[in-house]
Amino acid sequence: MKTIAVLTSGGDAPGMNAAIRAVVRTSLDKGIKVMGIKRGYSGLINGELFEMKRQDVSDIIQRGGTVLRTARCAEFLTEEGRKKAAGVLKVFGVDGLVVIGGNGSFMGAQKLSKLGISTVGIPGTIDNDLPYTEYTLGFDTTLNTVLDAINKLRDTSTSHERVSIVEVMGRDCGDIALYSGIAGGAESVIIPEKGYDFDELCKTILEGKLKGKMHSLILVAEGIGGSMELAKQVESVTGIETRATILGHIQRGGSPSAFDRMLASRMGVRAVEVLIEGKTSRVIGIRENKITDDDIDEALAVPRKFDERLYEISEILSR
Ligand code: ATP
Repeated sequence: MKTIAVLTSGGDAPGMNAAIRAVVRTSLDKGIKVMGIKRGYSGLINGELFEMKRQDVSDIIQRGGTVLRTARCAEFLTEEGRKKAAGVLKVFGVDGLVVIGGNGSFMGAQKLSKLGISTVGIPGTIDNDLPYTEYTLGFDTTLNTVLDAINKLRDTSTSHERVSIVEVMGRDCGDIALYSGIAGGAESVIIPEKGYDFDELCKTILEGKLKGKMHSLILVAEGIGGSMELAKQVESVTGIETRATILGHIQRGGSPSAFDRMLASRMGVRAVEVLIEGKTSRVIGIRENKITDDDIDEALAVPRKFDERLYEISEILSR
């Protein structure tokens, strides 16, 4: 392994910079040349590669977003686009590629490895929607961002004795809503994995009022959506003033938490080691606090197993 390249792809996630830093510094430590690729697969196809030195990753461990920028690239979905990308990597003498991104980015890496490039993926996505790993980079920071918003909303909702509906990210995976619902003390969590019963929801809110609750907090995952409409319906049935807040893209930004910086650092180091070991088509993960590397096909085939126990905990604690 003489030259390793690194790119970030798909949605950005806090901790991507810390992972880039770890990949660059580990490669240099092992005497391997390292190149950054701007704008994901799109930049790769366009030859946006540059050599990275130690100081190129100074002062970025604490920054959200990605210094390499990120993109979604339709051309890379085609065989021709991927051949171009592989050609560019060969021209620059790259023998190993680290892809930091989500599910789609990993599928791209898997296809690239079939064209003779050793690839390894680091899971960078705030949704925590890759079942082979217990955590993805950015998830923990996003939870902290959501909690900060919930704390602030709680102050105002309590003062006005309102119901507060908070919509967070997560299309098919409700982890952001579930975890921040438990950690933020929500009365109800509405996620795609479980759905919800509108009458039950209103009953919970009204019972809460009878028990003396000053306000109710309801977490809704983006995959359910419709929070504005839901607020109107809840208000008309319960008679309690109800407001919805869609947190949106603030959930993607911000300085990565200690957990995400640690995860990124550990995963970045391991990704380079995996390439040095001569492996290809691997993805890095974490299970039982051990950093893992799995075959990409096997990892992507792992079915999502919903954590019923956590859901149960959210229900017990909100009663
Ligand atoms: P996020 O979870 O944040 O959405 P992601 O990596 O899943 O991240 P995608 O937009 O799905 O984001 O994928 C990023 C890029 O990876 C795409 O723009 C495309 O270039 C490439 N890609 C996605 N799916 C495939 C695929 N099936 N085959 C080849 N390349 C793919």
